[in-house]
Amino acid sequence: MSEPMYDWLIVGAGFAGSVLAERLANEAGQKVLLIDRRDHFGGNAYDFVNEDGILIHRYGPHIFHTNSADIFEYLSRFTEWHPYEHRVLAQVDGQLLPIPINLDTINRLYDLNLTEDELVDWYASRAEPIDEIRTSEDVVVAKVGRELYEKFFRGYTRKQWGVDPSELDRSVTARIPTRTNRDDRYFADKFQAMPRLGYTAMFARMLASENITIKLNLDFSDLPADVRYRHLIFTGPVDEYFKFEHGRLPYRSLRFVHKTLDVANYQPAGTVNYPQGEDYTRITEYKHITGQVHPKTSLTYEYPEASGDPYYPIPCEANAALYKKYESLAAGADGVWFVGRLATYRYYNMDQVVGQALATFRRIQAQHAPRQT
Ligand code: FAD
Ligand code: UDP
Repeated sequence: MSEPMYDWLIVGAGFAGSVLAERLANEAGQKVLLIDRRDHFGGNAYDFVNEDGILIHRYGPHIFHTNSADIFEYLSRFTEWHPYEHRVLAQVDGQLLPIPINLDTINRLYDLNLTEDELVDWYASRAEPIDEIRTSEDVVVAKVGRELYEKFFRGYTRKQWGVDPSELDRSVTARIPTRTNRDDRYFADKFQAMPRLGYTAMFARMLASENITIKLNLDFSDLPADVRYRHLIFTGPVDEYFKFEHGRLPYRSLRFVHKTLDVANYQPAGTVNYPQGEDYTRITEYKHITGQVHPKTSLTYEYPEASGDPYYPIPCEANAALYKKYESLAAGADGVWFVGRLATYRYYNMDQVVGQALATFRRIQAQHAPRQT
């Protein structure tokens, strides 16, 4: 039987592709073919129950947080939530200390008894004046000084990105605030929660529409010739779409090592970061995050790698300049929409990708709306 004509082909079934598939199918009544070269939908947020019965994330810990009521409400159509505020400890000088750096971090690291007000002056006495804050080193050194930068940021960043923080855009370490109070939450967003049954279950509800056909294990470059569609949304790496015409955009990769231990609990927080030594950057223990009760516990170790699946765009000047070239190719590609972390080369969190996809849907609707005469 020959293939039907689809209104839309969407390449990539992560947040970007799935949100657009859902909106186009349910709001605009369009016929959508959603493909992914992996054997599952959900993109990097994919989670699954492992052979021991514990819900884990295949591509590392994904913690949902947003300040946008609209984005939270939109996703709430497809999931109930398990309230969760992420906490992270960093192993520094033999202690497990709160990161972002806060009052307890400093008091415990230096055996002090500072108050919040005193800590403001303490940071100020160590901070180095920097005229123009450009790099990921500048951001931290200008706030808390070189010693804390070296203990908490330099080693972790070199490991994670394969370059020194002085070569990375300020936006990378600026993701981590510095606090003077005792707030030890990793994120300060208004909405923080995990999909109650997991991300994959949430995606399944999002994609359950007669108007959506899903084909997995299918790479865009292997799309059979008889598949016909009117418009294209591409959420994979933008340089790959253009056959690396201007050279490869650098992405950082990770190797995930998943382990299950025959103990109920391994570490005191959802994630422990390792800024000193160790080849891995962090260990995550899922039961803290999902609230699952189980006699065993599952962990993921993240080992940064230069090659492999593209997980992180690398924010720095040279890469931004190279991306600009692809951005102008993308702007000239009629009838093709580029959306998501890889296609727009942006170090976006899940909520930002959802926001970008919803905004793209509004632009598509505006463009396709019948003209008023
Ligand atoms: P992706 O999820 O990468 O989806 C793109 C999909 O396109 C992939 O499934 C891929 O297989 C498919 N694809 C690509 N090219 C092709 C092709 N040619 N043919 C067919 N299919 C193709 N965000 C948070 O908000 N909180 C977190 O705690 C968090 N933790 C993270 C931890 C790690 C280790 C990583 C890597 C990311 C984390 N993120 C987190 C970011 C989050 O993963 C992304 O914001 C989000 O998943 C991006 O969605 P996307 O649809 O743009 O891309
Ligand atoms: N970072 C660090 N030490 C830490 C935590 C973060 O140096 O203990 C830096 C590092 O460069 C990291 C960046 O801050 O890549 C952003 O951290 P985040 O936890 O947001 O990274 P992600 O979850 O996106 O991997």
